Amino acid sequence: MNILAIESSCDETSAAVISNGKIYSNIVAGQLIHERFGGVVPELASRAHQQHILPVVENALEKAKVTKNQLNAIAFTRGPGLLGSLLVGTSFAKAMALGLNIPLIEVNHIQAHVLAHFIDEPAPAFPFLCLTVSGGHTQIVLVRSHLDMEVIGETQDDAVGEAFDKTAKLLGLPYPGGPLVDKYAQQGNPEAFEFPLSEMPKYNFSFSGIKTSILYFLKANQAKNPNFIEENMADICASVQHALIKMLLQKLRKAARELNIKEVAIAGGVSANSGLRKALQELGEKERWKVYIPQFQYCTDNAGMIAMAAHFKYLKGEFTSQEVSPLPRMDGKYS
Ligand code: ATP
Ligand code: MG
Ligand code: FE
Repeated sequence: MNILAIESSCDETSAAVISNGKIYSNIVAGQLIHERFGGVVPELASRAHQQHILPVVENALEKAKVTKNQLNAIAFTRGPGLLGSLLVGTSFAKAMALGLNIPLIEVNHIQAHVLAHFIDEPAPAFPFLCLTVSGGHTQIVLVRSHLDMEVIGETQDDAVGEAFDKTAKLLGLPYPGGPLVDKYAQQGNPEAFEFPLSEMPKYNFSFSGIKTSILYFLKANQAKNPNFIEENMADICASVQHALIKMLLQKLRKAARELNIKEVAIAGGVSANSGLRKALQELGEKERWKVYIPQFQYCTDNAGMIAMAAHFKYLKGEFTSQEVSPLPRMDGKYS
């Protein structure tokens, strides 16, 4: 059973082939064009998807040594994401499925970030908690089975990936800044500066306050020393990252203790962060958790995770009609 999966929700055009639950290819084309604008420009993103999608799909099929005629279904990201970007992948998938006369499978991008854990062994045992941390989402998800997930806590404002990217922007680093903050943080002192941690009820998060406090902190220090940022880059990055990770892990620990769950995973682009990976391992040892961290290529956006989600939907016979259109927002609509 072969499924071709397509991901185009933001600024990565990606295609993957999964056969009987095993990924045979996962091709990702990024879009460097956005760097000079300091963020993703939706109109440019959809045009770049149009340019990339055919070569990326051909490449994925070739690498997997699967021909179009051997495909049993086409999967695509229906949402959430940028409408123009989603439209490219959705239209391509619909046209290809229609042409080959095979079924279509729609995938929720955020659910797929969680299901990336089933690409490699060992996979978490149910029920497990997944801290999903990405450019647009920050959630604690209770995962009861492959397709039964409940968001038990989430950010009330910015996503933690946004907090990383906005910090980077304030520091004059290019977009997307998250990985750069990570890189500088590795050389810095996480206790050099202190930032206030937000207190939210239950398992919820807030990251807009820390962003404002970083802004004022930088302004005040730059007024005294115009070279403050350059001279303290590593310590600032390490301290901000430390505060962000602390907020994430406090809530994750609270949820795991209260629900008495010992299987704990992280997913999404920010799960590539080396400080978070390390801090989670350490906390996991203290709490006696089994910790699951995805391979780097399956943390940020990729079609491999879309293919994995599609595999489970295929087994359950969950197909989509040709009438389907993309959904830029589909919060809470898991399954
Ligand atoms: P969503 O999945 O919510 O729709 P998205 O698809 O844009 O959003 P991802 O691709 O999953 O998000 O993740 C991108 C985010 O991950 C960006 O904010 C980026 O800065 C952040 N990120 C990637 N690598 C790292 C890292 N090493 N440290 C911190 N942040 C990182
Ligand atoms: Mg991206
Ligand atoms: Fe994503």
